[in-house]
Amino acid sequence: MTHASAYAAFDAASPLKYWDFERRDPRPDDVEIDILFCGVCHSDLHAAKDEWGVVDRPFVPGHEIVGRVKSVGADVTRFKVGELVGVGCMVDSCLQCHECEDGLEQYCNHFVPTYGGPEAGTGKQTYGGYSDRVVVKEHFVLKVPETLDPAAAAPLLCAGITTYSPLRHWKVGPGQRVGVVGLGGLGHMAVKLAKAMGAQVVVFTTSASKVDDAKRLGADEVVISTDADAMAAEAGAFDFILNTVAAPHNLDPFIACLKRDATMTMLGVPAAPHPSPSVAGMIFKRRSVAGSLIGGIAETQEMLDFCGVHGITADIELIPIQEINTAYERMLKSDVKYRFVIDAASLAQG
Ligand SMILES: [Zn+2]
Ligand SMILES: [Zn+2]
Repeated sequence: MTHASAYAAFDAASPLKYWDFERRDPRPDDVEIDILFCGVCHSDLHAAKDEWGVVDRPFVPGHEIVGRVKSVGADVTRFKVGELVGVGCMVDSCLQCHECEDGLEQYCNHFVPTYGGPEAGTGKQTYGGYSDRVVVKEHFVLKVPETLDPAAAAPLLCAGITTYSPLRHWKVGPGQRVGVVGLGGLGHMAVKLAKAMGAQVVVFTTSASKVDDAKRLGADEVVISTDADAMAAEAGAFDFILNTVAAPHNLDPFIACLKRDATMTMLGVPAAPHPSPSVAGMIFKRRSVAGSLIGGIAETQEMLDFCGVHGITADIELIPIQEINTAYERMLKSDVKYRFVIDAASLAQG
């Protein structure tokens, strides 16, 4: 077995704490990775607290992993020892269905999440990246450009691809006016990526205190979404809107901002449903409301390469893993700009 240490949730209510455990022995198609950094995603917190269903314990979150290859199995062809690599939200899928054949492993009915899923072959729970080591099938390992700061690149593996994939799918580019609703971990990545794709980017936020930061991140304009007059002035003015807000809210004012045939894509899963959008708002301009989940492996690699070319990473606050519980409390208050990243070297302190 492969020895590893981690911070784990032993029940839904207690703070995460240190845990020694074993990962599977590397198989011929596996890559063994020494973890350097792991981003802290809202999904980690929701899952650790059983908010998305009861998880097996101990539970190790973390799916924004950057590290270096420690060893490779005999059948591994794309990776060498010492390379900078990443692992996102998936570590396996059937690789045979239509979704997998189309490079959309995230929509495979049998995709295995990086944490909390049944490991292929053993059925044991998968353990995430709040750890010093991980063993992952080659197909699900990504190359991280050496030119990027590896700590700030970690959030690209979830927040980055979650925003990049819909921007590409709905063909965002030059000459378009694109809205980003919410300026958190996802929203700040969406601003940087949409800007680098050549779009004119407008941030919708409820807090006037975020205006300067939105512009620093690359937004051309900022609209305070609680200002009804400001929202009315944007009617029919957007080619695409990416809505990153998970809290339940009225979608109608944003739908009204879409041009004919335009789409607003939802990324957050609210704990309680959003109020139903008005059907009339969609009918009269043939508008759509859609959803999108992370991105496939090939597209995740494309995103990392795109970020390498454009020098894009997340704005982060680097923490030792001993501060993870405080970080969770601060995330619940949106008190982070814009992503916590764990320095895995701190695990040596226990
Ligand atoms: Zn995530
Ligand atoms: Zn599949």
